[in-house]
This record gives sequence, C-alpha cells and structure tokens, in this order.
Amino acid sequence: MAYQYDTQNIFAKILRGEIPNKTVIETEHTLAFEDIAPQAPVHVLVIPKGPYQTWDHFAAEASEAEIVDYTRTIQAVVNQFDLAPGDDREGYRLIVNAGEAGIQEVPHLHTHILSGRVLGRMLRD
Ligand code: 5GP
Repeated sequence: MAYQYDTQNIFAKILRGEIPNKTVIETEHTLAFEDIAPQAPVHVLVIPKGPYQTWDHFAAEASEAEIVDYTRTIQAVVNQFDLAPGDDREGYRLIVNAGEAGIQEVPHLHTHILSGRVLGRMLRD
C-alpha cells in the first residue's frame, strides 16, 4: 500500500503553527486540542504529529514510540476531563473516520473524544 499525505490539510497547518488551536495536551509525538465545532460538551481531537492520513496508515508506518504516545495521550485526555465510566462524565466515545465511506473531512489521522452527554446510538443510517 502506497500511502499518501497532503501537507496542506488544516491539521498540518495547525501542527506548523499557521492556524491557532486550543491545545489540551502536547507531547513529543502527539497533539490534543478542542474541536472547532464541538458535537458534545467535551469534544477533543487527538492527532499524531507525524504525516499520517488514516488509522491504517498510522498503524502500518508509525514507530512504536509514536503509537504508544498517541494511545497514552488519548488516555491522558480521558483522565484530565474525568471521562471514564465511574468518573464525573460517566463515559465517552472515540471515533476515527477514514476516507470517503468513513466521511473523513480532514486527511490527517484524528481521534474524536466525545463526552459530557448521553451520545445516542453509534450510527443513525
Ligand atoms: P472528520 O469529519 O474529518 O472526522 O472530523 C474533522 C473535524 O475537524 C470536525 O469535527 C471539525 O469540526 C474539525 N475541524 C475542522 N477544521 C478545524 C480547525 O481549523 N480547527 C479545529 N480545532 N477543528 C477543526
């Protein structure tokens, strides 16, 4: 599989500091920031700093250090906002869209972390 990456996508611009963001957590390999159009009281996006378009691209080509850092940063956001079941927010949902069928708008891997309300069924269609 020959993976591609568009360096002009909006999250690449955020990583280069060309567009501002509301940072939640930044680590060596990962950035977590607030979604500009939140779908729930908590809506954080977590992106790797490396140039990966999709989850499958990241899983295939990222280093173990990047993958561990990405996973642990998601956990750190869950901890920071008290999202785990039994904590204040009583649970959360992770969403990773990929490609046209997955309706991925921004072609840089991002995990949505949603919480703060009962989120409804996973899929409507
Ligand atoms: P997707 O549909 O690709 O899974 O999700 C893209 C997400 O990026 C959407 O939830 C959208 O609100 C968010 N988004 C798009 N542009 C920006 C931006 O410039 N800044 C931030 N913080 N979020 C953005």
